[in-house]
Amino acid sequence: MMLSCRKAAELISLSQERPLRFWEQIRLRVHLWMCAYCTRYYQQIRTMRRIFAQFRSNETYTERMTVWRLSQDARVRILRQLTAYGSDTPAANDRDPSTE
Ligand SMILES: [Zn+2]
Repeated sequence: MMLSCRKAAELISLSQERPLRFWEQIRLRVHLWMCAYCTRYYQQIRTMRRIFAQFRSNETYTERMTVWRLSQDARVRILRQLTAYGSDTPAANDRDPSTE
């Protein structure tokens, strides 16, 4: 008995939530062999899933980028402070507290 497209779509969605049971898998496979629409749907779901998995595996990369951005911000702040300190330093050195 051929699965209806609606039932096949249900199985495809279900396969994203849990592994399909043996017969569910067989029935879906048989349907996909015969139905181009559901095959396309299945491929789209799988592509989306792959992109999502890649996105999640990129979290460490995103984290690294955030750290890099923070250290970049920190560098700018340090540079500003150093510049400010540098401009203050000659004045501070001009007045030696011990000679006053
Ligand atoms: Zn179908």
